[in-house]
Amino acid sequence: TATIDTHIDELGRLDALAGDGDHGLGMHRGATAATAAADEACQAGGGARATLDAAAQAWADKAGGTSGALWGLALAAVAAEFSDDHAPATGDVVAGVRAAAAAITRAGKAELGDKTMVDALLPFADRLAELVSSGADLGAAWPVAAETATSAARATADLQPRLGRARAHTTRSIGSPDPGAVSMALALTAVSPLLF
Ligand code: ADP
Ligand code: MG
Ligand code: MG
Repeated sequence: TATIDTHIDELGRLDALAGDGDHGLGMHRGATAATAAADEACQAGGGARATLDAAAQAWADKAGGTSGALWGLALAAVAAEFSDDHAPATGDVVAGVRAAAAAITRAGKAELGDKTMVDALLPFADRLAELVSSGADLGAAWPVAAETATSAARATADLQPRLGRARAHTTRSIGSPDPGAVSMALALTAVSPLLF
């Protein structure tokens, strides 16, 4: 939440280039509501699944916008891979990240290269799975995969938006990265020290 909050204006500016400028505020509302809901669920005795489900619901309800709905679905997809009975194992986390990417592409129909958050999340999921399958532990693999997401988000600057609001102003955003990809990379980077 703190990371998103220091980037509200930057994300808003990026979204304003080809979209409607609300992405920073949407992410702020989503992350804030999700954190509060997760805290409450956790204090009420919820396990990993219930806690993340509460976060997903709150994000979807409070963030607004296309990205808010997609973030809600993504978190719910991660929750579905988790159990309330035990802490998520490495395999659950890798499966959760994959499920989140699948949920976003299923609902939003974006493919790699459409200049959306998918362009940060898919490379992240691939890199994480690859590192873990070659024997890295999750705590070491996650920050490396987050760096992959950050460079992938930066690389969306060269792309033309093909989906979402930005589609209507395709050329205006060339040279600037996609706000949803940038915020995805920021979030994946920020959660790393919290998780491990
Ligand atoms: P809105 O466009 O409704 O104002 P936001 O500004 O919060 O929503 O989010 C915009 C971001 O959402 C874009 O930068 C892009 O990354 C992402 N996005 C938009 N449409 C899609 C889609 N169909 N699939 C995946 N991501 C999308
Ligand atoms: Mg917007
Ligand atoms: Mg909007």
